[in-house]
Amino acid sequence: MSHTHVAGSIHADVASAAPAWLRLPDDVNTLLPELWSKNVAKDGNGELTIGGLTVSQIADEVGTAAYVLDEDDLRQRARDYASAFDGWGVYYAGKSLLCKAVARWVTEEGLGLDVCTGGELAVALAAGVDPARIGLHGNNKSVEEITRALEVGVGRIIVDSDDEITRLIELSEQLDKHPRLMVRVTTGVEAHTHEYISTAHEDQKFGFSIAGGQAAAALRRIHDHPRLQLVGIHSHIGSQIFDADGFEVATRRTLRLHAAFAEETGVELPELDLGGGFGIAYTSQDTPSTPQQLAEALNKIIAAECATLGVAVPHLSIEPGRSISGPSAFALYTVGTVKQVLLDGGASRLYVAVDGGMSDNIRTALYAAEYSATLASRRSDAGPALSRVVGKHCEGGDILVRDEFLPSDIRPGDLIAVPGAGAYSRSMASNYNHVPRPPMVSVRDGRISTLIRRESIDDLLALDVG
Ligand SMILES: *Cc1c(COP(=O)(O)O)cnc(C)c1O
Repeated sequence: MSHTHVAGSIHADVASAAPAWLRLPDDVNTLLPELWSKNVAKDGNGELTIGGLTVSQIADEVGTAAYVLDEDDLRQRARDYASAFDGWGVYYAGKSLLCKAVARWVTEEGLGLDVCTGGELAVALAAGVDPARIGLHGNNKSVEEITRALEVGVGRIIVDSDDEITRLIELSEQLDKHPRLMVRVTTGVEAHTHEYISTAHEDQKFGFSIAGGQAAAALRRIHDHPRLQLVGIHSHIGSQIFDADGFEVATRRTLRLHAAFAEETGVELPELDLGGGFGIAYTSQDTPSTPQQLAEALNKIIAAECATLGVAVPHLSIEPGRSISGPSAFALYTVGTVKQVLLDGGASRLYVAVDGGMSDNIRTALYAAEYSATLASRRSDAGPALSRVVGKHCEGGDILVRDEFLPSDIRPGDLIAVPGAGAYSRSMASNYNHVPRPPMVSVRDGRISTLIRRESIDDLLALDVG
């Protein structure tokens, strides 16, 4: 873990205010390949390139801030899940990044698509996704959302409350439908990043509790109703998870419920969904598993547990979001101002302000998420400076990258790229301070396509009708 360096006291000063995990780079121009999509590299001038285009070419064409997506990389990640989880259903979690092109790409690569609002459903349908391959989530689905889902015939609705079951019964009678339903359960497992917590009961808004008996009651209520088709149990334990322990405990608890239901009713439910949450590398600290490793671990856990319980292995599914969309895009910014701030103990930090911020990536402010960054538009011969990449919003917490070593000569006009910007960046973007949201562009074989155009001040004013 600790990185020894020969350069002595200068580096010791530079690094003194850095977090322990942050490696002092030998060369500030170097990319850590595990953080970037497969068609990203630095060229002979030290400039970042993606799919044969330099970031300057992209900035000239679409401006900054922008999200830049590697189409081939995203498709490859979708394919890798489909092949590693052979025989499973793989549903891409659209909430991580959804636009018509991405919906088409993931379904072309063989995946299904999860949505959790009427808005996400509308994008999926506008992209031409077969409704039978769509799953609808959400803890508070409206009458309009359920009606739309029933009318178009989504493949499965993941039910989250008793009120929703009542609504589903009424609406499916009115519309003469027989929807396919899964029951979202809470297993008492909560996974965060490198650890998970397993508790007896759970204090959160999603799902029906297994421990409290509500999950069994919901299964029974749906099973007993002639309008409703009960397909199976659904569990999702969290996000940015790096080990299988949380999945193991959740799977065991879920399969026990599955077996108890079979015992009680004589029916082994045909399906089981284990949700998403597989972690990706935002910084050198993160060590994600491959889809192949995940599939092996989950198949083993499930085979063992089903054998113990004496039930057949149901048809399984997962719902990766971040691990497909996240690493495939970087955010591209232009540096506007650079400030050196002296810290206690004689160290200093460069505050590098860019033309975006918490409105295009809220995760650092919201969850203390960690990111990395690189000087993208040129090579630098300067040494590393402990830096913080901040935005342009009127908020002290408007931080994009809390800790990174950038070259000490970083200056206004430089381009900076932040990897891992495919997931939960555009999808969680806001118009805070009336900053228009950046475009999402994709690159493939030297060509740029705009997937979502840049928002304009006119777009914002068009909403303001008072
Ligand atoms: C958010 C979510 C996912 C996807 O999570 P990732 O961390 O992006 O993989 C999958 N399933 C459900 C039910 C979710 O809420």
